[in-house]
Amino acid sequence: MTVAISSGHGLHVPGARGLIDEVTEARRVTDRVSAILRDTGVRVNAFHENTARNQRDNVNAIVRHHNNLQRDIDVSVHFNSVAGGTRDAGIGTEVMYRTGNATTRPVASRVARAIAGASGLILRRGDGTFPSTAIGFLNNTNISCAILIEVCFVNSHTDVRLYQAHFEAICYAIASAIIGRAISPPAVAPITPDLPPMNDTAAYEEDDMTQAKFNIMFDIAMNAYLAGVATRNQAPNDFNNAVNRGLISDVRQDEPVNRHALGAFGNRLVEAVLRETNAK
Ligand SMILES: [Zn+2]
Repeated sequence: MTVAISSGHGLHVPGARGLIDEVTEARRVTDRVSAILRDTGVRVNAFHENTARNQRDNVNAIVRHHNNLQRDIDVSVHFNSVAGGTRDAGIGTEVMYRTGNATTRPVASRVARAIAGASGLILRRGDGTFPSTAIGFLNNTNISCAILIEVCFVNSHTDVRLYQAHFEAICYAIASAIIGRAISPPAVAPITPDLPPMNDTAAYEEDDMTQAKFNIMFDIAMNAYLAGVATRNQAPNDFNNAVNRGLISDVRQDEPVNRHALGAFGNRLVEAVLRETNAK
């Protein structure tokens, strides 16, 4: 099987912008899904459009690229947005598909359900699929199976939080659903970070670090690292940004948290994770 996958919009043709930027995130998802598929032996052609200066040229270039390939499925990766600014409520994921071929809708449905199952994103419109008649990519690519994934909404806090927390699982879900068989992430050896004792108030500046908080934060740090969000140099910043964006709201629901203490803890935690991972 050969998969042709591309990110929506282009380097000079912006997509939706909100809490996250559609073009940036569509490229991340496209690249990660491609890498997962390649690792499992599937032939993949991944494409990002980098030269067009307007929407029409951009869509035409993407379609032209796909149509020049031998492939079994065309996939376009997008993020959606709604009018009216940012909101807390989740809006969800959905996958549009080309009509006129009976095999395409089940593929769209499989991808949408996989994303929802991996992340907790809502299936928009009930089943997460939508037949499209007005999307250039779906109308003009010239094989029967074409889908356009709207991973989530860039202006929903809930959607963005779920997307960021489950990035890796979402990419595995998309890759698996595209080819119709499960791909499991490689097993990761358990990591015991080299951290000061949890009751070391000097190390953490404040003795409010319960085991529950530790577990949640460690998971976030590990997910960020495994998803490639965290690199050696930017990990502490990423972690602090995650704290400030409310990605650890699970913690805050229980009790007030001193952000400064969390930030200091986050730095130490991520450093420890990276140290442990790199040592292996
Ligand atoms: Zn888009």
